[in-house]
Amino acid sequence: MDHFHIRDGQMHVEDVPLSRLAAEVGTPLYVYSRATFERHARVFREGLAGLDRPPQLAFAVKANPNLAVLGLLRREGYGADVVSGGELARALKAGMPAPDIVFSGVGKTTSELQQGLDAGIGQFNIESGEEGRELAAIAAARGQVAHCALRVNPDVDAGTHDKISTGRADTKFGVPIGHAPQLFAELSRLPGLDLRGLAVHIGSQLSELDPLEAAFAKLGDMLAKLRGAGHAITHMDLGGGLGVPYRRGETLPEPAQYGAMVARATRGWDVQLMFEPGRVIAGNAGVLLTRVIRVKRGLHNPFVIVDAAMNDLARPALYGAWHDFDAVSPTGERMLANIVGPICETGDTFATDREIDALGQDDLAVFRTAGAYGATMASSYNSRGFVAEVMVDGADYAVVAERIAPDAIADAERVPDFLR
Ligand SMILES: *Cc1c(COP(=O)(O)O)cnc(C)c1O
Repeated sequence: MDHFHIRDGQMHVEDVPLSRLAAEVGTPLYVYSRATFERHARVFREGLAGLDRPPQLAFAVKANPNLAVLGLLRREGYGADVVSGGELARALKAGMPAPDIVFSGVGKTTSELQQGLDAGIGQFNIESGEEGRELAAIAAARGQVAHCALRVNPDVDAGTHDKISTGRADTKFGVPIGHAPQLFAELSRLPGLDLRGLAVHIGSQLSELDPLEAAFAKLGDMLAKLRGAGHAITHMDLGGGLGVPYRRGETLPEPAQYGAMVARATRGWDVQLMFEPGRVIAGNAGVLLTRVIRVKRGLHNPFVIVDAAMNDLARPALYGAWHDFDAVSPTGERMLANIVGPICETGDTFATDREIDALGQDDLAVFRTAGAYGATMASSYNSRGFVAEVMVDGADYAVVAERIAPDAIADAERVPDFLR
């Protein structure tokens, strides 16, 4: 359930009509619903209520790094899963306590490892023996101990899009699960490291629980094996990955079903479980509001040219992803159309042969389910600037990210003396 609904013939976010936001802030515009974010944060937590101990929840910042979003989730008791120094800085800026921050990622630089140690973050998820040895040396030299989990690659196919599958043996993430015993034996002896668990994340937008359950089963076997070898395992990080419905009528596993599976898969583990949900919290809490520039006659379907483009919402161009597209003021009439942005690439196509609400020049529409991997993937391609973001709270709203104009981006560029 979300808070994007038609009232008096017009789509509202909570109690704010989208036409008001278009008039006051302009388009294209990402619009988030505070109530929806909070609801999703609570539903995910409640889904895990059957576990032996309360889990540690770390929102995957890359899904939506906006400071207002992170601040909201902090108030809901969430920490952060970060994958760069920039995300770490954001999480701290949003008030996330350092012990609630997990640092993931296959290519943490030396300075990012130092940044994590400076902040005193809760856990590094190390993704290789090489990274573990480097972190150990840095921490030991500073007289610190880095709490760590070893990210393992369980070699399961998540059954999602190739570009967001991370748990097959041939991807760059984690270490092959079979290497865990040898790496634990080596790394746990190093001063500077407190290697205390395993981490796994097999991919994103998972539409079935079976691959996750298979991964968790392999993790459980490895947990027993490591304990058998005398290692103290106190933490297990089960990652994120739960999908969300992008198409009306589509059904995906609910957080409650996910929670029941996790409870089953982890029975008897006797550890602090950690989770890194991203999309399931943020996806359906945001839309991308756009205005029709004009409707162009095509050979077959008309082209509905909107003022949002692949630089604002990259998922369709990147993954062929589907976003439901709805008029803000639907008349009940429908049309068959191609929905495209103004960018000079054929890839700047949001949908082809799509039956949509009938739209004409200057009409407003939304791409739904744009709260995750939306604004954060934006670029300034075609010198279009960065789109603004708004958060609605009841009948109120606030601009939570200002539009960055093309001029401001050009201001950071320099023509060198030798070209003058
Ligand atoms: C991207 C990512 C997540 C979040 O994935 P979702 O599908 O958005 O839940 C969690 N953990 C890691 C390590 C990630 O890279």
